[in-house]
Amino acid sequence: MRRAFPVWILLILILSACGRNASPAGTPDSVILASTTFLADITRNVAGDRLTVESLLPIGADPHSYQPTPQDAARIADSRLLILNGAEYEHFIEPLLENAGGEREVIEASAGISPREDAGGEHGVDPHMWLDPNNVVLYAENIRDGLARFDPASAAVYRSNAEAYITELKDLDSWIVEQVSQIPQEKRLLVTNHESLGYFAERYGFTIAGTIVESFSSGASPSAGQMAGLIDQIKSSGAPAIFLDASDNEALARQIADETGVKVVTDLHLESLTEGPPAGTYIDMMKHNVMLIVEALK
Ligand SMILES: [Zn+2]
Repeated sequence: MRRAFPVWILLILILSACGRNASPAGTPDSVILASTTFLADITRNVAGDRLTVESLLPIGADPHSYQPTPQDAARIADSRLLILNGAEYEHFIEPLLENAGGEREVIEASAGISPREDAGGEHGVDPHMWLDPNNVVLYAENIRDGLARFDPASAAVYRSNAEAYITELKDLDSWIVEQVSQIPQEKRLLVTNHESLGYFAERYGFTIAGTIVESFSSGASPSAGQMAGLIDQIKSSGAPAIFLDASDNEALARQIADETGVKVVTDLHLESLTEGPPAGTYIDMMKHNVMLIVEALK
């Protein structure tokens, strides 16, 4: 019996170390839900091992066209903390929240960032703030403050995790500045499916030369007149490429490429991470996109 005792203790230690809830006593042990994969990654960087963070949307889903499932409603109902991008990005969330019942805190990651708007104001606001890492510094600060309110006992840990992650985000910004310096100023022209790279363009000195869909969302289809207009814009601007997210339909871009001779770059990851490389984390996703843009435009 005396020899069995330490083995038994060891087994308990192994079991508790393997448990998914590594939280210390007093920490809320519920799962934290973030709306999208990149927000879940940003949140994990701040939460560290104190909280379990999951993404509501699966990898590869386009948030603009996302249709929630009954399981989503159940996951929202079970959550006590929900992290959203905000700026009208989660168009699917209102009915889910209404039906879920219960109470949860909501952190809006983009709170405090003034959104871009289109000239006519008819397309609402541009939610793609995360495509400028300087905005993600603010996301990390909002998430840090929200986690600290949710779990005050670990506030110091969230503060120091956020500080380390913000250093990585600033390094990413410097890296992007250095990379895009390879592209001559007159070639810094972006054509995309919908207007997703506006914040990126403003930060790194690009011009949006055109979009297939005149919208901040992927939902709409262009008219024949809009297609003709875009072909003219591409020819007159000299934009050499059309950049698509991996989830975008390629057909219209191929049609435009046939008429203009530009290349189509199909595998940017702007709205979702990938399982492992090339865009397994938010930072890797940005690096992957920047390398593709530099390669096509330099
Ligand atoms: Zn988008």
